[in-house]
Amino acid sequence: MSAQATNNPTSENAGYLRIATEEAWAPIEMLDLYRRMLAKNEGGPGFERLIGHYMTSDAERPRFVRDRLTDLGESRLADMDAVGVDHAVLGLTSPGTQALAPDAAREIATLSNDHLAEACRRYPARFSGLAAVGFEDVPGAVKELERGITDLGLKGLICNSHIRGHYLDEQQFYPILEALEALEVPLYLHPNTPNDIMIGPLAEAGLDGGIYGFAVETGMHLLRIITSGVLDRFPRLKIVVGHLGEGLPFWFYRLDYMHGGQVASKRYEAIKPLQLKVSEYFRRNIWLTSSGMPWAPTIMYTREVVGPDRVMYAMDYPYQYLAEEVRMQDNLPMSSQEKVQFFQDNAIRVFDLDETAISSGRVSRV
Ligand code: MN
Repeated sequence: MSAQATNNPTSENAGYLRIATEEAWAPIEMLDLYRRMLAKNEGGPGFERLIGHYMTSDAERPRFVRDRLTDLGESRLADMDAVGVDHAVLGLTSPGTQALAPDAAREIATLSNDHLAEACRRYPARFSGLAAVGFEDVPGAVKELERGITDLGLKGLICNSHIRGHYLDEQQFYPILEALEALEVPLYLHPNTPNDIMIGPLAEAGLDGGIYGFAVETGMHLLRIITSGVLDRFPRLKIVVGHLGEGLPFWFYRLDYMHGGQVASKRYEAIKPLQLKVSEYFRRNIWLTSSGMPWAPTIMYTREVVGPDRVMYAMDYPYQYLAEEVRMQDNLPMSSQEKVQFFQDNAIRVFDLDETAISSGRVSRV
């Protein structure tokens, strides 16, 4: 898992900049806090299973992850260079602030945003960042989001799915969504381990992590945001979601059919008429990344059903760091213009990235 010998073409040869849009990092202070929580059995079963593994396992992959997560300098840049990634959009790794009590969450969010913004200022060609907030203190979250975007130049908000069992469609979080809409920056809805109630049968079968549990939990979170009517209330809200939409594009027909039936029968109090079909919100408010899903059939299918201007490249470093996955996506059956869109332009547009700065640092070694 260390730096890989590759023959990946540089972006100069490829004809597009490779912008990876779901890349994880963590301040040392947060990992230290996580270790203290593990020692005291705090954080709940999902936290223990996820963070316990990455903080304590001696296996190669978790060791690489915990080593690289905290690096916003030479090691990370060398890894990006080695596989031809020009630019990374960085977000606080899961669960970020979202396993923490409100005071600790606020403190970690502030120091994360300061560290991350400093790295982005130091390497403007290579890094952009997403702001973190402590979601449970809603007024504090709005202030920190505004500071992150307006003062620090960050490009969106990272939300590592559920907030200690709560979801963004709950009215208490509306001021955060309102601020996102006003600032015109996207929310990145990233996976978290399933909440305490949901995790039981997944954990029992070893399916609670990235293999499936993340998608179940995060896909449900995104659906709740849609079916609760949040996107009718905040029609200009932009949401980016990884793993090709956590499987939801495959469900479009059934989602629309069942939603229509449930509205007509008034079967559930929570299911109300919406201005658009469930699937139509994906073509208005939602962008998808290929994090962890570098497989041509699903990428091509997803582009077909949500539109090629809504699907973009992500690596999921350092959790998934494989040169061959970059090559698989270089070789997607697309025109060169479509690849520019997939690897470069969609990310520049949705995150409002500085194309001039990124082009000036274009990876040109090998
Ligand atoms: Mn990820």
